[in-house]
Amino acid sequence: MSAKGRAIGTRAVHGDRQPVSGPLIPPVVQSATFVMDSSAEMRRYLAGDEELYLYTRYANPTVRVLEEHLAALEEGEAALALASGMAAATTGILSLLEAGDEVLASASLYGGTARFVREVLPRFGFAGRVIPVRDLVKVASLAGDRTRVIVLESPTNPMVEIVDLAAVASAAHDRGIAVFVDNTFATPVVQRPLKLGADLVMHSLSKALGGHSDIIGGALIGSRARIDKAHALLKVMGGCIDPHTAFLVERGLKTVHLRVQRQCENAMALATRLEKHPRIERVVYPGLKSHPGHEVARRQMSAFGGVVTAVLAGGLLAAEKFYDGLQLVSRAASLGGVESLISLPVHTSHYGFNDAQLAEAGIDPGAARISLGVEDAADIIADVERALESVPGA
Ligand code: PLP
Repeated sequence: MSAKGRAIGTRAVHGDRQPVSGPLIPPVVQSATFVMDSSAEMRRYLAGDEELYLYTRYANPTVRVLEEHLAALEEGEAALALASGMAAATTGILSLLEAGDEVLASASLYGGTARFVREVLPRFGFAGRVIPVRDLVKVASLAGDRTRVIVLESPTNPMVEIVDLAAVASAAHDRGIAVFVDNTFATPVVQRPLKLGADLVMHSLSKALGGHSDIIGGALIGSRARIDKAHALLKVMGGCIDPHTAFLVERGLKTVHLRVQRQCENAMALATRLEKHPRIERVVYPGLKSHPGHEVARRQMSAFGGVVTAVLAGGLLAAEKFYDGLQLVSRAASLGGVESLISLPVHTSHYGFNDAQLAEAGIDPGAARISLGVEDAADIIADVERALESVPGA
């Protein structure tokens, strides 16, 4: 039975595999290099025999198991695992470019990816242009002759805006522009951008896919041809994932559907509760009817994700007071793990952004991003409400 006929939970547990004998769990092949029994075997490797391995930076059996699993989850032809989400972003975007090309990036993007487009690419002869989220669907009219790729995410980080992925993809394809989507926030459990027209999907595996806040990893998923191109670049850029890390991510994937489902339920419960809280100016969560992207989210996602952003009525000082008052929710920069975490975007992903850049990214200084874990919703809500009591009244 191929992964195509399987539902998401079955794909999370098994991917496309069904071992018929041998270990149920693939072994960790913690070896940098591989022995060839003869020059004939070496020739078979060079001719493309996928059963043979040369060197772990090029390919590794444990990493390959993970890659096949990721491809099955995202419904892509192939996948590539990398050392971090940023290795996936940089290697993936570069794999789509030739000298002199231009990249369009959503103004609301993970801070590291935004810096890569805004500051790093221009130093190497590429153009990088940031466009507001509301203009992403106008990509066809905004693109220039050398625009090759548009980079975006939905929900966005950290203000959880929703972008109509199918609409952007169709407009981009009209101009032959490749669509690169960071699906870290949504996860393949609730949204599969390749099915909506994206050409290359990336993940920070450090988040919900690894799931336990104990590894750093990244991934690209797409057509065989696009992944082969990215793989060729990875071999020289060097951002390969370690086999033991790949094993831990592979273990995490088996429960990703259960964890993400619980995170979405917890996020909905918290967002609903905070919507009427006097010390909260605005709650942003795509599951709320008040969210401007709610209808699009319903169309392109099967649930609304595990991140809720609350804007404190008293700005940054109030957000810091709230942050300091939490006891169960940990003050830590990341998301998607089993523990609930909080971060203030102006101190983390968007640290160092000037006021204009913050405004362009739609980030309010009083914003607190809460990544819901899988604890009991009542305990998370009690912790949040207790911490809000320490915030001076608006
Ligand atoms: N994309 C998103 C949405 C993220 O939140 C992050 C990390 O915080 C990244 C990419 C970068 O991933 P990594 O930290 O694994 O390099």
